[in-house]
Amino acid sequence: MEVQWVLVCHGCLTLLIVVSFLCGNWPIFQNTPIQRIHHFITVGAYDYFLRFAMFAFGNRGRDAVLSVEYHCCDRPNPVLQVIYLAIIGVTYYFVVKSSFIYVPGYYLSEVHRYTSFLAVGVGVLLFLLTSFSDPGTVKAENFSQYMVAYPYDNILYKEKECPTCKIPKPARSKHCSICDRCVARFDHHCGWMNNCIGEKNTRYFLAFLLWHFLLCLYGAAVLGLILAGRLKELKVIYILTVYYEIDYSFSSLAPHVIQWLVGSYNTQILLMVFLAVVSLLLAGFFGYHAHLSGKVSFIDKWDKALEKFMEHEALLQHCISEVHRYVTGSSQLPTFKWQDYKNWKRKLNEARASAAALKARISGMTGERKPPRSKWKAFFQRSPLEDVEVVVEDNIYDRGLFGNLYEIAFPLSSRSSFLGGKSD
Ligand SMILES: [Zn+2]
Ligand SMILES: [Zn+2]
Repeated sequence: MEVQWVLVCHGCLTLLIVVSFLCGNWPIFQNTPIQRIHHFITVGAYDYFLRFAMFAFGNRGRDAVLSVEYHCCDRPNPVLQVIYLAIIGVTYYFVVKSSFIYVPGYYLSEVHRYTSFLAVGVGVLLFLLTSFSDPGTVKAENFSQYMVAYPYDNILYKEKECPTCKIPKPARSKHCSICDRCVARFDHHCGWMNNCIGEKNTRYFLAFLLWHFLLCLYGAAVLGLILAGRLKELKVIYILTVYYEIDYSFSSLAPHVIQWLVGSYNTQILLMVFLAVVSLLLAGFFGYHAHLSGKVSFIDKWDKALEKFMEHEALLQHCISEVHRYVTGSSQLPTFKWQDYKNWKRKLNEARASAAALKARISGMTGERKPPRSKWKAFFQRSPLEDVEVVVEDNIYDRGLFGNLYEIAFPLSSRSSFLGGKSD
C-alpha cells in the first residue's frame, strides 16, 4: 500500500509543478502558493543560481552564466526544439514499452499500434513545418506587397519605419529582436519552434496545438481502454465480488479497483495523468491564440479612449460655461476652455516623455542589478503589448472569429488579389 501512496504523491507533485509552471501567472492563482512556485521556477531559481555563481566564481562566473543565457534565450537556438523532440520521443517510447503488449486487447484492435505511430509522426511533421517555414518576413523586396495586404488605419497603426530594418512597417507587423527581422502580422517568437509565429505560419502553429491536443486525448483514451480491458480480461470484478465477497456496487468496488490499478499499472496511470494535463493546457493555448488572432493592443485603445473622454469632457465644460454666461449675462470667461485642454494635453505628453526617458535611464543604470526576467515565459506568452489585448470596436483588423481563422488559413499577402497589387 505504501508504494501506491508514494506514486500518488509523485503524480500530484508532478501535476502541481506542471500547472504552476505553465499557469501560475494566471489571475486566478494570484497570491496563492501556485503563483509563488511559478515565480520560483521562472525567476527565483535562476536568480539564486546567478547569485551562487557570483558568490562562488566572482564576476567571471556571473558573466559565463549570463553569456549562456544570452545565447540560449536571446538568440535563435534549437535547445527547446530538442527538448520538444525528447519529450514526445520519450513519452511515446514509454507508451510503447509499457502498453503495446496489451494491444490488441479486449477493447482495442491491433490497428492502434500503427495509428499511434502515424499520429505522432503527423505531430512531428507539423512541428517541423512551423519551425522551418517562413513566418512572413518583411523585406525590402516584398514590403510593398504586405503594405497592400495590411494598410494603416491611422488609429491603431500609423505610418512607421522599422529603425533596424530601415523599411516601412506594414500594419500589425513587428520587429523580432531575437531573429532580427520584421514579421508580418507578428504573433510572438516561439522558443519551442525557434521561429517567429507570424502571418504565414500561424496556421501551422494552430494546427500543431490542435493536433497535439487531440494526440494527448487519444493517448489518454487508449491507455484508459487498455486498463479497462485488463480489468475485464483478468476478471478483477468477478474475483473481488466472488472470492473477496465485496458488494457489487460502485462505491464498494471503486477503492479496491483503484488500489489494484495503481499497484499493477502505475506507469500507465502516470502517463494518463500527464497526457490529460498536457491536453488541457494545449486546449487552453489553442483557444487563446485562436481567440486573439484578430485583436489589437489594449494600451493603444486605452490611450484613444482617454483622449476621447477628455475631449468630450472639455467640450461639455465649454458648453456649460457658455450656457451659464448666456443665462447670467456674465462677461466672465469660461473657466475651462479648449485651450486649457490643449495645454493640459501637451503637459501630459511632456510628462509621459520625461517619465519614459527617466525609466530608460534607471533601467540602464540598474541593468546589472535588476532581477532577471524569466526567458522561459517566451514559449507560452505573447509579446508584452499583445498580452493585454481586448476586443476593440473600431479595430478594422478584427474580422470576427471565423473571419480571423480564415485569414490565418489563407494569409492575405499570399492571395492573388494582393500578389498583383504591388504599390511600388
Ligand atoms: Zn525590423
Ligand atoms: Zn523571432
